[in-house]
Amino acid sequence: MTPLIAGNWKMNGLAAARVEVDRLVEARNGGHQAAARDDIDVLVCPPATLLAPFAAEFAEKGVLWGGQDCHGSASGAHTGDISAEMLADAGAGFVIVGHSERRADHGEGDNVVKAKAEAALRAGLTPIVCVGETKDQREAGDAERVVGGQLAGSMPAPETVGDREIVIAYEPVWAIGTGLTPTLDDIASMHSFIRGAVGPTRRILYGGSVKPTNAKDILRVDHVGGALVGGASLKADDFIEIIAAA
Ligand code: PEP
Repeated sequence: MTPLIAGNWKMNGLAAARVEVDRLVEARNGGHQAAARDDIDVLVCPPATLLAPFAAEFAEKGVLWGGQDCHGSASGAHTGDISAEMLADAGAGFVIVGHSERRADHGEGDNVVKAKAEAALRAGLTPIVCVGETKDQREAGDAERVVGGQLAGSMPAPETVGDREIVIAYEPVWAIGTGLTPTLDDIASMHSFIRGAVGPTRRILYGGSVKPTNAKDILRVDHVGGALVGGASLKADDFIEIIAAA
């Protein structure tokens, strides 16, 4: 399985962030031997304002482009929202759905996330479906039950999938942006649980405080098919080191 290293810029980045993309593209095209390998998929999900210009300027340069969220409908009266079709039109090939920040900030439940994942497939995008437990849920011994429930409720209906790709991102909520990570054993056991739920072909990413310093160890864990990287994807040098670790 080709590893996928995906950067989620969240609500960060102005036009000047183009210099970071320049560095990344240079690394992917021979500037950094390990990060230039073409048996690694590299994806950047910038804010929607930067997607179209970056995807146009840096098309076919070793970096894939994605959105951070989409609406379930193709168009309509939904002020401020973006459809999966619009993301595809802007040059995206992927879209993150169900990120814990969307689930928390916008009250998105599993049924909404599922509609977004199905919308992504409808528009020809690969959805990255995020799941993960809170600290309280882990401490209560509920992590697998929570993640299993999110998968059951958020994954697109099988008849909408066919042979299309879906990526799952396991992101413990308490590890996002905190510098904390689960033990490698805990990552292994959750990824093995998710593998059992989604079958043998899906890429399962780990996300939550992935850094150049821990990427090698995390990416070596069984059933970890890549990483979803937030903070460390904003600086090209850090992101390049994580790609090199893969
Ligand atoms: C994320 O937002 O998906 C994420 C994993 O963030 P961070 O790497 O900053 O923890």
